[in-house]
Amino acid sequence: MKNIILIGAQGAGKGTYASLLKVDLDIPHISTGDMFREAIKNQTPVGLEAKKFIDAGNLVPDEVTIKLVDERLKKPDCKKGYMLDGFPRTLPQAQALDRITKINHVIVLDVREDVVLQRLGGRIQCRKCAAIFHLTNLPPKKKGICDKCGGELYTREDDKPEAIRKRLATFHEQSGPLIAFYENKGVVHHADANSPVPREVADEILKLLKA
Ligand code: AMP
Repeated sequence: MKNIILIGAQGAGKGTYASLLKVDLDIPHISTGDMFREAIKNQTPVGLEAKKFIDAGNLVPDEVTIKLVDERLKKPDCKKGYMLDGFPRTLPQAQALDRITKINHVIVLDVREDVVLQRLGGRIQCRKCAAIFHLTNLPPKKKGICDKCGGELYTREDDKPEAIRKRLATFHEQSGPLIAFYENKGVVHHADANSPVPREVADEILKLLKA
């Protein structure tokens, strides 16, 4: 089974590598951040609840997030495996996930702070299909327009400086115990995510998964 978790600070490139790896591994990429943004766009009850926390730069409460992931993992496309991105973010989420499913690999993306700052400065995302581009590292063919679906590209609220600082602090506080939890299970691999070439990092992750 290919039940995988990607863990990395914002700007480590989780979403970018996941979009390559989901093709290589033929498994869905499940990003709780993307699911919340979709729910907000569609004004579902989960979206309306999550919006208050996301706009303030806080995490969405565990019970809301766990329910969302539990329902997603029950879908048939997850039978052959899946790649979780942005979940779990807290120890209670990891413990809840443990009761729902068995995780085979946890990939921790190691990235320097200067690299994160450079990447986040230019990150843009499609409003329609959530694809990620970068003003310099991965520019779209047409400025402001998504290559994949023609949607509008924008800078996310939570990629603005004040929200970024808050999210980085939250990440460092919460990822330590999370990584320790999975290290105890012997499923953690570290990948060097400093390369500006996403394919190189994705290939390193594939090697770690096969090792
Ligand atoms: P992301 O795109 O993963 O950075 O997620 C954007 C925002 O969605 C985060 O800043 C949180 O407010 C919320 N979020 C995403 N995943 C989780 C999670 N596992 N637990 C709590 N909140 C989450």
